Amino acid sequence: MAIRDIHILGSPALRRRAEEIAAVDDEVRALVEDLFDTMAAASGVGLAANQIGVTRRVAVVNADDQTFAMINPRIVEAAGREGKEEGCLSIPEAFAEVTRPERVVLEALNEAGETFRLDVSGLIARAVQHELDHLDGVLFIDHLSPLKRQLLVSRWKKEHRNEPLTRTPHPEEPKATD
Ligand SMILES: [Zn+2]
Repeated sequence: MAIRDIHILGSPALRRRAEEIAAVDDEVRALVEDLFDTMAAASGVGLAANQIGVTRRVAVVNADDQTFAMINPRIVEAAGREGKEEGCLSIPEAFAEVTRPERVVLEALNEAGETFRLDVSGLIARAVQHELDHLDGVLFIDHLSPLKRQLLVSRWKKEHRNEPLTRTPHPEEPKATD
């Protein structure tokens, strides 16, 4: 399929709530393929459709040897709390500790349109929650205190001013963020 450009902080697509998928058809499956290709090219552990400028509720995850697509995903159970450093392909070179539930049960549709449930913890649970946030127009920086967020964003904007709002991923990039 295709490696797509990734939208960067400042792109309106990152702040839109993505729309439910009414039917899992070939168009949706093509979107899933593009997300997988783009995530691999960017060495990401997850990627949501908003990040390639498509505001539909589709995301992919590749963490802890598990790779899957989630369509219309939702979290049906959450437990524990854990703080870990997080980054985002849409906010390159920015990292901060984010506290989230340590374990979640995900319910979503797969590429065949079938409902599946997945009980996950650790990195994969974090990636799932991070991608679900994207589909609601939420970024990891929104989980920080207002002061921390302001510091991170103002520094990031200074370092990234005059840069375009989309970026083409390069497979040689060594970073592994979502
Ligand atoms: Zn992200």
